[in-house]
Amino acid sequence: MRPVYVLGNGQLGNMLLEAGRRIGVDVITMSIDDDIVMPADVKITAEREHWQPSGFISKIIGHSGWQNPQTFLDIPDRRRQKKLLDTLGLPTSPWCITTNETSISELVDKLGDQFLLKSARDGYDGKGQWRSNGQVNPVLPEWKDNAIAESFVSFDTEVSLVGARNKSGEFAFYDLTENFHADGILQISIKTERTFDGYQKKAEAYLSTLMDSLDYVGVMAAEFFISGDGLLINEIAPRVHNSGHWTQAGASVSQFELHLRAICDLPFPRIDQSGSSMMINLIGSPLAPEWFSAPGARVHWYGKDVRPGRKLGHVNFHHSDSQTLAVWLEQLPLEKKYSKSCELAKNRLRHG
Ligand code: AMP
Repeated sequence: MRPVYVLGNGQLGNMLLEAGRRIGVDVITMSIDDDIVMPADVKITAEREHWQPSGFISKIIGHSGWQNPQTFLDIPDRRRQKKLLDTLGLPTSPWCITTNETSISELVDKLGDQFLLKSARDGYDGKGQWRSNGQVNPVLPEWKDNAIAESFVSFDTEVSLVGARNKSGEFAFYDLTENFHADGILQISIKTERTFDGYQKKAEAYLSTLMDSLDYVGVMAAEFFISGDGLLINEIAPRVHNSGHWTQAGASVSQFELHLRAICDLPFPRIDQSGSSMMINLIGSPLAPEWFSAPGARVHWYGKDVRPGRKLGHVNFHHSDSQTLAVWLEQLPLEKKYSKSCELAKNRLRHG
């Protein structure tokens, strides 16, 4: 089988490597700053979509083993991503491109007085985001020339769908996952049985339409808002996704293996994902030894330098009964910054 090179050597690349080792796929992770000569007979994929242009990246884009060239032009730029979603008739919050000439009154007319600016490129985990917060005469950020503005969505909750498409156009999807953030960073994901049944098929139809339109191969994730207007797409990630980490413990095939199966053209699975799962991101603090003795905890630590706000590891939990997950969550040694996400997640696990 052709080896798979992964652009990016962070935790997502390492988890692809681990999954590959188990199923006999040779995965090689690399920094996008390495200017290596890429062998001809390999597949190339990526663990991230935001890159600065470089000679090396130009060479990769021309390589025959590079998966999904069109996707990596359209998706990482929010202007192109939103335009594509509009063209396909997929619902997102109302939006427009901003320029240096864009004024507040123009945005209020188009989007209402609650809106956000998001930088066109490189924004993630809430970075590159500015909120109007209904201020009187707010000053737009100076990067407005390279941004979009979108209406603030007063959502009930945030969910994501992780799925994959293979070369023959077959799909595999995981159940919708509910996500709890603080300061734009994902803290807790939970997947319970049938909580979002009403939205599952719709979300799958949206993501299938998008993947088909790009002739995409591999795992892709869509983040959604659930609001009074139904299901709205917030953003798309053309890669394995943090909200899919629970699949390592709660599904017969993890998102990392699924991605490799898709790009290596290995048979697509019927995924067993019965029961409930929970994933907690370990953010900004050293690993506490108590995590190793927490009931049900399966700890993943990435070995990165500890910095505030940095994702340093995650812990997965899986059980047939969501009530047990609620009890386990109650007992965890979580810092205060998790309090709100923790309460919301416990409530959902207890009451559906
Ligand atoms: P993003 O970087 O686009 O994923 O945004 C980070 C977080 O900001 C999301 O998970 C939401 O909680 C919030 N957010 C983003 N866009 C909107 C929006 N249009 N309305 C309300 N909240 C938003």
